[in-house]
Amino acid sequence: MNDVSNIVILTGAGVSAESGIDTFRDAGGLWEKHRIEDVATPEAFARDPDLVLRFYDMRREAIQTKEPNDAHHALGKLEREWLGSLTIVTQNVDDLHERGGAQNVIHMHGGHLTAWCLACDGRPEWRGPLIDRPACPLCGSKGTLRPDVVWFGEMPYRMDEISAALNRADLFVSIGTSGAVYPAAGFVREARMLGIRTLELNLEPSEGSHYFDETRHGPATALVPAWVEEMLSAP
Ligand code: NAD
Ligand code: ZN
Repeated sequence: MNDVSNIVILTGAGVSAESGIDTFRDAGGLWEKHRIEDVATPEAFARDPDLVLRFYDMRREAIQTKEPNDAHHALGKLEREWLGSLTIVTQNVDDLHERGGAQNVIHMHGGHLTAWCLACDGRPEWRGPLIDRPACPLCGSKGTLRPDVVWFGEMPYRMDEISAALNRADLFVSIGTSGAVYPAAGFVREARMLGIRTLELNLEPSEGSHYFDETRHGPATALVPAWVEEMLSAP
């Protein structure tokens, strides 16, 4: 891969699975008899805010007890040592890439550790629960904070930056994502249209596997460090 200088990496729940964070499909499938698809929508929040806030309070608490794994650490190392440009885009709402040493991660689906205030549009750091409707630390309004995560039907964050990074990339790598949730699932086809080489690292063949030039199957903690070493040792 000595002709590669600009890389875009897309990660999904699979990169955090070995840290003990359930993937989307594993997350019980059911949570208090609700499918995740049914709690992760603006309509669900309008209909039953307590249910949605409790669900996210539980997830926010859980991720703070987890640690980054060898895949997160390897991507942190790649970011530090890669001489070309590297853009890590994640669908994950945990902070394990950052705790694994990556500094510039685009969280296209938001994050568990900030809240979004619907009164002042601020995004204060947030680690505790939201269920008791705490006041916004930025503007003082009560009952205006919601999880800062992008729900089904909402527009992902920073799409312009992602598109710009794809346009100048020569390698697109997808790690631990099922290729089922759009628009991220469409990045591989966008990359192909742009003539960018594409590589998938996933536990098993995904819905989008056939779009990739190359796919490698196995756990992220094995595949990602091996691929990073390969990239860093290429002449
Ligand atoms: P997904 O659950 O749909 O897909 C996960 C993919 O990872 C699957 O293809 C699976 O085969 C693969 N996988 C599982 N274990 C793996 C491992 N050890 N190594 C490598 N691959 C592994 O998740 P998705 O594609 O990220 O999309 C679903 C949505 O769910 C996203 O929007 C994301 O925001 C959200 N989500 C986030 C988190 C998190 O922040 N950690 C967790 C669950 C869901
Ligand atoms: Zn506010």
